[in-house]
Amino acid sequence: MTDTFVVIGGDAAGMSAASKAKRDDPDLEVDVFETGEWVSYGACGLPYYVKGEIQSLEALVSVTPEEFREERDIDLRTGHEVVGIDPDERTVTVERVADGTTLEQAYDHLLLATGAEAVVPSIEGTDLEGVYTLGSMSDGKELREYVARAREKESFQQPDRGPACRYLEDCAGRVAVVGGGYVGIEMAEALAANAFEVTLFQRGERPLTGFSEATSEAVADHLRERDVDVRLGTEVRELVAGEDSETVAAIVTADERVPVEMVLLGTGVRPRTALAEDAGIDIGPTGAIATDAYRETNVPDVYAAGDCAEATHTVTGEPVYAPLALTANRHGRAVGQTVAGTPSEGGTVAGTAAVKAFEVEAARTGILDHAEGREAGFDPVTETIDANSRAGYYPEGGTVTVTLTADRETGRLLGASLVSEYGEGAVHRSHAIVAALEESATVFDLENYDLAYAPPFNSTWDSVLVAAKVLAGNLR
Ligand SMILES: Cc1cc2nc3c(=O)[nH]c(=O)nc-3n(C[C@H](O)[C@H](O)[C@H](O)COP(=O)(O)OP(=O)(O)OC[C@H]3O[C@@H](n4cnc5c(N)ncnc54)[C@H](O)[C@@H]3O)c2cc1C
Repeated sequence: MTDTFVVIGGDAAGMSAASKAKRDDPDLEVDVFETGEWVSYGACGLPYYVKGEIQSLEALVSVTPEEFREERDIDLRTGHEVVGIDPDERTVTVERVADGTTLEQAYDHLLLATGAEAVVPSIEGTDLEGVYTLGSMSDGKELREYVARAREKESFQQPDRGPACRYLEDCAGRVAVVGGGYVGIEMAEALAANAFEVTLFQRGERPLTGFSEATSEAVADHLRERDVDVRLGTEVRELVAGEDSETVAAIVTADERVPVEMVLLGTGVRPRTALAEDAGIDIGPTGAIATDAYRETNVPDVYAAGDCAEATHTVTGEPVYAPLALTANRHGRAVGQTVAGTPSEGGTVAGTAAVKAFEVEAARTGILDHAEGREAGFDPVTETIDANSRAGYYPEGGTVTVTLTADRETGRLLGASLVSEYGEGAVHRSHAIVAALEESATVFDLENYDLAYAPPFNSTWDSVLVAAKVLAGNLR
């Protein structure tokens, strides 16, 4: 009898697992249940869809439901929400969203790929009209519609709208982004590029707190150059409606009340774990579903991958929650391979991430925070350097700022953060450092890496090598 592999959630982790399992074992019955209508979509592209650089939501879809069904022979059911798991009976209960009817589905192997949901801060007014989050395709659609509606208004098109407009009570198109993480920053760009007056509120003292201080500073400076009003160390206390209205009209901080007509909450995500918890599946110290190296939970033959699950940190070997697209694809694919008969781990994660803010790009990987490093038993030392992005004599180019962190005693590389002008290579340069982290390399190793060189791309000593040389020199 053929085995049945049931997948809950039809995006990066779920569809990677389903596709790989079916490819490796065509006899396996693969059933995917997805609450929404969209599957295999690139949520990462949503800010660029809202910005207007990508013209349709369909363009964000890698493989359509029809292709999964007809070409990959996967029984994909959209509009079906899994509402319960019975690990003893090895069944899931599924509710059809359209009419509330339920069905039972038996499984031999089960994958939870339920993803994450946007965190809404516990302050007054988040349920007002004009307050948005960006976690799903439908959120993206609503935001793009808002942008189009707002821009059509006559008051938006008045000629005296300019950077000072955001301070005026009757200024149209004045919006707020709450949160200085990557979604907040990408959305600040998307809105400012559409001529909105954007104020970005960040509770901490810098945006992109997981990156180095040098990167955060470069990004904040650049956002300000592009007329985003960046308010650091500013906690939003309340969102308030206008008089006799249910629509947001102002954002309240400890010091002021800033008029706005729209608020985008970019205040992080939390793993969707309710289904797992109800089924007695263990939650780990990070709050996401705990798994072993094969992404198997404490319940035999039940796996969890992607934004709903923990991973293991490349540097510390400890559980980490790093909800990012490659992890979801990689771990989903590994589960598919395991279920099809070849046990596969899918690897650790270093928390490698990239972001673009207008004409600046940045990347981070590993451990940069000294307190976090000390907790993992290291004695972190950090060095930051600026270097030319191309040979000094080569036209154009800019500066790459590289921050490297290593362990004082051993020189083991712990993490890095890089920032440059967009197109000048901060993100691609980070890949060498990720490879070094994977190998537990030291800065003494890294300074001798045989990196490619030609004048249009870097100096003979690439900025990564310069940073490694300087930090290695400090440690010797
Ligand atoms: C705006 C935005 C920008 C991003 N940018 C980047 C980026 O630049 N780089 C990067 O690496 N990552 C980025 N990410 C994160 C990336 O999109 C996620 O890491 C990735 O989508 C996670 O995939 P997943 O399959 O684990 O979860 P999800 O994509 O969240 O998919 C989970 C799916 O499960 C479904 N589901 C949930 N519960 C049930 C249930 N009970 N029954 C049936 N179906 C269910 C949901 O409807 C959903 O479709 C971004 C995310 C957003 C929102």
